Amino acid sequence: MKLPDHISSEKWARLKQAADQYQTPFLLIDLPTVAEKYQQLREGFDFASIYYAVKANPDAQVIGLLAGLGSSFDIASIYELDQVLAHDVEPDRISYGNTIKKRADIKYFYDKGVRLFATDSEADLRNIAEYAPGSKVYIRILTEGSEGADWPLSRKFGCNPEMAVELAVLAKRLGLEPWGISFHVGSQQRHIDVWDAAIAKVKVIFDRLRDEQAIHLRMINMGGGFPAQYLTKANEFSVYCQEIIRFLQEDFGDNPPDIILEPGRSLVGDSGLLVSEVVLISRKSSTALDRWVFSDVGLFNGLIETLGEAIKYPLQTEREGETEEVVLAGPTCDGMDIMYEDHKYELPLSLEIGDRLYWFSTGAYTTSYSSIEFNGFPPLKAYCIG
Ligand SMILES: *Cc1c(COP(=O)(O)O)cnc(C)c1O
Repeated sequence: MKLPDHISSEKWARLKQAADQYQTPFLLIDLPTVAEKYQQLREGFDFASIYYAVKANPDAQVIGLLAGLGSSFDIASIYELDQVLAHDVEPDRISYGNTIKKRADIKYFYDKGVRLFATDSEADLRNIAEYAPGSKVYIRILTEGSEGADWPLSRKFGCNPEMAVELAVLAKRLGLEPWGISFHVGSQQRHIDVWDAAIAKVKVIFDRLRDEQAIHLRMINMGGGFPAQYLTKANEFSVYCQEIIRFLQEDFGDNPPDIILEPGRSLVGDSGLLVSEVVLISRKSSTALDRWVFSDVGLFNGLIETLGEAIKYPLQTEREGETEEVVLAGPTCDGMDIMYEDHKYELPLSLEIGDRLYWFSTGAYTTSYSSIEFNGFPPLKAYCIG
């Protein structure tokens, strides 16, 4: 089997031994890989605080591991909050990073001791002032477009810089602490330059607030966006560090504000091995060139990020020999449950029903995106090793 570059043969042996114990479909999470990625981030950005974006993989053992390593947490809901608090994480290591929240949920966070809130609108800011009085707020700005991001999220969140200035002023008036500015350049962001543009915008906001309003912001939350290793190549993590640190220095010199990072995908993506089984192999006519390979995992039980073929996971089987292009689809009765049709994966001609398919780099946005029981299929199971 040809392993992806980031999987050593020792690691594969460990994964395979564990995988052999379980029935498909399931996700294996290699905890040492998560720890390694966390360490890499710590070292690469040794001045930054790391807030793990829990939505990428809320597995209790992943949260527990990162809590133990000293990570902070970016949380989007009261449910994630409870999950993280169950690991004795102090509330000052938690931010409520979702700009879309109910009043009751703001109060819930506040009552649990959380004092750091994201916002991008006046209505939300007023709710925070009322239900989380005196808290620190950071204002999320829109980052231009979604260029370079394989899984963009920018358009829904954030406001323009002009409004960010207004919200900071209003925050102060409402008795909150205008603390900083945040952005997210889009997930699996392969164009490093977009951080440059975003940091430059933040700098303008910092300067305007200082010069015009005597408001001194203290923090930049640079979100996530760092890559996992899929088929579409991204730069090495060290290149991201080098470049982003340079952008910060260019704009903020030797006196940068506090920096927060909110990695999700890059912390857990490479740790995952999703194992599925071939349910059926067929052709649509006796002369059709494409074989259809149906797997017992599809868009609704783990592989939603194949939507639009956005994320292309490295895929392998244990069969050898001549390969052929295939269409890959999931097991449900939904026409959109097709993972890859345009991008042609090559699988061995010797592939048979019942063979296992190994999907690498599937630690992020798989279990947490799996439906509860579409067509009765249960949610994707996860097992941790290491
Ligand atoms: C999803 C999300 C993240 C994580 O992004 P990745 O690209 O997975 O690292 C970070 N911050 C916020 C606010 C998010 O919504």
